[in-house]
Amino acid sequence: MKTFTKNMLKKSAETSVFKRGLSLLEKMNDRSTDLLRILTYHRIDYHDSHPDHHPGMISATPEQFAQQMKMIAQKYQVISLQDVLDAIHNQKQLPAKSLLITFDDAYQDFAKYAWPVLKEYSLPATVFVPTGFPDQPDASFWWDRLYAALINVDRSKQLETVHHLHPLSTKNNLSEIYWMARKWIKSLPHQEAMERVNQICEKLDGPQLENIVMGWGELRNLAREGVTLVPHTRTHPLLNQLDLKSAMDEILGSLNDLKEKIGETLPVFCYPAGGVSDELVRELERSEIQMAFTTQRGLNCIQKDSPYLLRRINVGGNTTLSILRAQLLSQSRLLNRLW
Ligand SMILES: [Zn+2]
Repeated sequence: MKTFTKNMLKKSAETSVFKRGLSLLEKMNDRSTDLLRILTYHRIDYHDSHPDHHPGMISATPEQFAQQMKMIAQKYQVISLQDVLDAIHNQKQLPAKSLLITFDDAYQDFAKYAWPVLKEYSLPATVFVPTGFPDQPDASFWWDRLYAALINVDRSKQLETVHHLHPLSTKNNLSEIYWMARKWIKSLPHQEAMERVNQICEKLDGPQLENIVMGWGELRNLAREGVTLVPHTRTHPLLNQLDLKSAMDEILGSLNDLKEKIGETLPVFCYPAGGVSDELVRELERSEIQMAFTTQRGLNCIQKDSPYLLRRINVGGNTTLSILRAQLLSQSRLLNRLW
């Protein structure tokens, strides 16, 4: 039912009637100074640039991103992460139509494609950096390694998971198998999950991937140009699959890495892949971290909602300009739950 509703909404979002309705709603959009929209991007790139890396991490092509930023610059007030901290902790008011733009994982294409567009429109941006990855040539995210192993596989092989043996004989079922394996990996305790990924990649003879996370030199240049860099753990584990002490070591370790390597950061954090628990939120409230971002979809009422569970709107390959415009409407708080 949810998929059916989503597909219906996707189709209708491209009709002229829907677009006229959008324009009307945008014009009457509220003047609330309590509502904060936060966008999540991962990669801005073309699939062909790095065909072995998982294309699902591409939020938009450079052209689509430029189109999205043009619309946002015209219709919204893009604020900085410091503005959000000031609103939450120093009672400063947000402007109406506030929007924060965030990028997870610090992929190199941020510097190549996203930042030039953001600079053109003078839009501030925040990048969440997994600090164990910059300048580590052999490091790659596990989801990219898993994808690379599957698409380069000798098709006579099989993939063994906890439930089944999956023949890897047709290209069509690779995507399905990738998502099934990914879901299974995410359900395991972190250590075991990483061991399983290594076993799969070894068994399938997966290639050594190029590390496409920005290096510290590039990150320092961006910080000098005004990009806000904040922690995203060191090794990007799912924190709800780690014990509390290790989770806090990952969080505070990445905060310290940024202080040491960049010199300037903010006490703000983003949960990798949205992995969070009540216990972790309570621990963060007692730490120097003042605000944390989830992958939970939605808009935020900053005076009411927990600053440790901020919701975001993920921009993905299927996010057309109309869908993005609809999700940003203040009236879309209900609609956001459906995507
Ligand atoms: Zn991430």
